[in-house]
Amino acid sequence: GGTPVARALQHRDVAALLPRPSAESDKYRRGVTGVAAGSDRYPGAAVLAVAGALRGGAGAVRYAGPAAGAVTARFPESLVSAGPPSAAGRVQAWVVGPGLGDGAEAVQAVRDVLASDVPVLVDADGLRLMDAGQVRSRTAPTLLTPHAGEAAALLGGVPREEVESARLASARELARRYRATVLLKGSTTVVAGPQEGEPVLVNPTGTGRLATAGSGDVLSGLAGSLLAAGLPARDAASVGAYLHGLAGRRAAPPVTASDVAEELRRVWQDVA
Ligand code: AMP
Ligand code: MG
Repeated sequence: GGTPVARALQHRDVAALLPRPSAESDKYRRGVTGVAAGSDRYPGAAVLAVAGALRGGAGAVRYAGPAAGAVTARFPESLVSAGPPSAAGRVQAWVVGPGLGDGAEAVQAVRDVLASDVPVLVDADGLRLMDAGQVRSRTAPTLLTPHAGEAAALLGGVPREEVESARLASARELARRYRATVLLKGSTTVVAGPQEGEPVLVNPTGTGRLATAGSGDVLSGLAGSLLAAGLPARDAASVGAYLHGLAGRRAAPPVTASDVAEELRRVWQDVA
């Protein structure tokens, strides 16, 4: 109970955690990131999540869902299929949720991905559609990436202001309830695990420039690709938030989510 101990994420921590391709790397060792996102109504969310995953250094990105056409048109290097995630082939981590909507396919995609034995990042619509019991019973790591409104809903419909005024405790409480790692987004993004004594990490690189449609979708792909590279959920979340913030700072305003994804290619050099 009470306010958990906080620790600011340091540049050197991030530098030490960055996955670096070695002479023995191949695309499978670098990590295949699965993305289950987008819908006929919101194909762009899928494109942005795939963009984030590619710029997160994934060896390959596998997309499964109804926006396969839009994704492959924008990113010919992605592997796409229109069916459910369970039919898409092997991945090292899944990202599920951005732009999924509410349809039967969306519900199935979330259930499918949570039933896998690889790390899963759940964002956006996925947070609404996920079954709490299924999340809690997972054996592989789960990373939830709500903004304050989504976190408030996950905490049983408390007012959003309650989350905003107690961000550290809210993130910790969510992590405990869902037995997951929680990246609570916002003007100060924090990362909490379920462990009581463990400090909550505070990301120092945030910028109001990131407050733009689709920027959270880019972060999902980015952090998901770090999970696929083998980083523990806490590290994938904090490195992802850190790099995402740097990319937002590098981009010239007015910043779009596509700009953030584009700038990610340069922030790797800033940190390495
Ligand atoms: P979403 O809410 O999913 O669209 O994600 C928005 C992204 O922008 C997250 O990475 C937030 O942390 C970031 N963000 C939103 N507002 C701010 C702000 N005022 N300062 C810094 N980052 C922000
Ligand atoms: Mg979002």
